[in-house]
Amino acid sequence: MTSTPLPVGRGADNLRSTNLSRILTLLHRNGPLSRVNLTRLTGFNRSTVGALVGELAAMGLAYETDSPAGRVGRPSPLVHANERVAAVVIHPDVDAVTVGLVGLGGRVHRRVRHDTVARPSVADTVSITRAVLAGMAPELAAMDRIAGAGVAVPGLTRTSDGQVLLAPHLGWRDEPLAAPLAEALSLPVFAGNDATLGSVAESLFGAAVDTDNTVYLNGSASGIGGGIIVAGTPLRGADGYAGELGHTLVRSGGEPCHCGRRGCLETEVNLARLLRVLGLDRADQDTLDAAVAEQQTAAVRAETDRQLDFLAVALTNFVNIFNPDAVVLGGFLGTLFASNPQRLTDEVATQAMAGLGRSVQLRRAALRSELLLVGAAELAFAPVLAAPRPA
Ligand SMILES: [Zn+2]
Repeated sequence: MTSTPLPVGRGADNLRSTNLSRILTLLHRNGPLSRVNLTRLTGFNRSTVGALVGELAAMGLAYETDSPAGRVGRPSPLVHANERVAAVVIHPDVDAVTVGLVGLGGRVHRRVRHDTVARPSVADTVSITRAVLAGMAPELAAMDRIAGAGVAVPGLTRTSDGQVLLAPHLGWRDEPLAAPLAEALSLPVFAGNDATLGSVAESLFGAAVDTDNTVYLNGSASGIGGGIIVAGTPLRGADGYAGELGHTLVRSGGEPCHCGRRGCLETEVNLARLLRVLGLDRADQDTLDAAVAEQQTAAVRAETDRQLDFLAVALTNFVNIFNPDAVVLGGFLGTLFASNPQRLTDEVATQAMAGLGRSVQLRRAALRSELLLVGAAELAFAPVLAAPRPA
């Protein structure tokens, strides 16, 4: 097999595009940076950085402002990713469809939660999204560009075409989702698993910005989802379904699970059981944190410790398999961890192979209500960041 030489100029164009991508991605993830810092972080010389920033500005993807006054030395203008380059984000859940508008840099411009009387169908999700966006017309008009739409799905979702294989809590099975949304919104639409997108958001903007190998676990009323970041990249698997960490076996012969097995992590470490012992029907994150902190009865302590011990079994498996730098715990798993951090830390440290668990850091998730919106926006921003071009 012989390789075909690149046409003259193509190699230079590819290099230029790669360099533009490097600068825009740095601005998106780090926030505003001076040209001096861009020079330092990229290794490009000053004139190259100046030319690339100028090109991104001409494309409407970046802009410059004067550096803060009062600094000593030559001023270096601050370069920003343009937060008015935005993504529409959608999160269908059992009792609501949330629609948002997120700009480059993870800036949440708007978030509207539309409560539903029953769990929404795909058709409901499409019509609710259209209606909410109609109400957001002023915000949409204020944007310079809408890059596309990203959907965070609580279920197994094929990333290549946005087909939902199974979203058990929504009752969706083999549903095309991205296609009807793309038609209704006249935008490119991308869809992915909510927990995987949460792991991406925490690794870019939250509790795991400083680590490249992260296991993320989120606990909610609909169970436990997960995402794994390996060397800075989300682990997707063959079809984008990787990360069903909630169905890790933690107790032989335990409670029956909707997946058909018994003793899965999400049946033993479970929000409903925690609420029951607290005497609550439902609770948002802050209410739950306060209830666990205030009700330190023997019964509450026994239940939180029981759940922490099963969580430790699962985390030990993940530490043995993935050797992460950090494990990030979101939703009610963050509440459980905060109730007795030492118990979970010690269990993982002593149970994992050959001391692997001693170096792993257990952390509580940082992005709360904005987590899935920021994560879903990354789906729509990916093509823009990979190959910046004019609108
Ligand atoms: Zn299961």
